[in-house]
Amino acid sequence: MNDLILLKQGEIVLKGLNRRIFEDKLVSNVRRRMAKIGNFRVYSAQSTVYVEPMDDDADMDAAFEAAKQIFGCVAVVRAAAAPKDPDAIFETAKSYLAGDLMRARSFKVETKRADKSYPMTSIQLSQYVGGLLSDAFPDIAVDVHDPELTVNIEIRENAAYVHSVPALGAGGMPVGSCGSAVSLLSGGIDSPVSTWMTAKRGVHIIPVHFFSFPYTSELAKQKVIDLASILAPWCGRMKLEIVPFTHIQEEIRDKCPEEYFTVVMRRFMTRIAERIAIRDNCGAIITGESLGQVASQTMQAMAVTQEPVKIPVLRPLVCMDKREIIEIARKIGTFETSILPYEDCCTVFTPRHPRTKPRLEEVIAAESALDVEALVAEAVNGIESVVISK
Ligand code: ATP
Ligand code: MG
Repeated sequence: MNDLILLKQGEIVLKGLNRRIFEDKLVSNVRRRMAKIGNFRVYSAQSTVYVEPMDDDADMDAAFEAAKQIFGCVAVVRAAAAPKDPDAIFETAKSYLAGDLMRARSFKVETKRADKSYPMTSIQLSQYVGGLLSDAFPDIAVDVHDPELTVNIEIRENAAYVHSVPALGAGGMPVGSCGSAVSLLSGGIDSPVSTWMTAKRGVHIIPVHFFSFPYTSELAKQKVIDLASILAPWCGRMKLEIVPFTHIQEEIRDKCPEEYFTVVMRRFMTRIAERIAIRDNCGAIITGESLGQVASQTMQAMAVTQEPVKIPVLRPLVCMDKREIIEIARKIGTFETSILPYEDCCTVFTPRHPRTKPRLEEVIAAESALDVEALVAEAVNGIESVVISK
């Protein structure tokens, strides 16, 4: 059987002159992902990326699952290729979809012609193949209005393709087609979701985690590595930057008024993230903040948090409810890991009464007891990089 996978491009098709750049990115992302699974030929034609197995060992089930996690595609189908002759198309549909045709009570055939020079119209071919299938499977009725099974035929340049229901693709844009960003990844529920949402828009991600050993344990670090690994099939290969944060937190604890601990700490995170962003040519910092969720996520606190940097701070979850965030976390598979009970550096030295509406002058005054530049430089120098790949 000439089994293959077709990935249908999403928003890319709306692009104008630079469409090729997006397409090439998608093909190279698909190629890299499939290379881990087996020997596949990957190429693009007519708004579709083709994934063809090159030998019998290529695991088509694994390739199909992987294809559903590649951003830039609206639909993914497993199909059988046939010569463009109507009888050959019928024979292929008959054997490839035999199980479906025996199970369903009603069906119809739907034809799409990407090759407009094909001698039969879509309706003629659907009727021809539908008639033959109806004879071959006498227990299934034809129902063109509300069929249980749709047999899809696509007439393309080099072959015809037969398939049943397409699976939903991951949507979005190919990762890497819209630049890079630093994403602040804690071990919580929110930041894996904001990271995923940003990758979905075609952004290559550099996850950054602030680690406060021994206040936060090796297990907490491992949890973040695990979360990044769950995200890797969507986001692609990433370099997780683990920033030593203990000294900064101790300095804040020892030298700043307690009510400013959190906002001062968050300003350090932003500054360090910007350093990494400049180094790695990133256009933004991403966080998992959501308006009003906690004291440090008021508009005033957000303004003070981003004040030390020029780079945009993007917050994909800003107007989402926890319930909506959890729904995505479950869908992408990060939720179960996120709820494992390990501490985060934000929960170390938490003030009893944090300022929900911090004033910038007061925060700057609180910070003046610290050698900010030296602390930032020390943290950046101590970064440990972990390569996360799928
Ligand atoms: P999350 O569920 O993502 O931990 P949260 O609701 O617990 O978010 P905070 O702890 O206030 O919120 O953190 C807000 C955001 O700051 C996080 O979503 C994340 O982007 C970033 N952040 C917090 N702690 C860390 C950390 N240890 N390392 C990297 N980023 C962090
Ligand atoms: Mg957190």
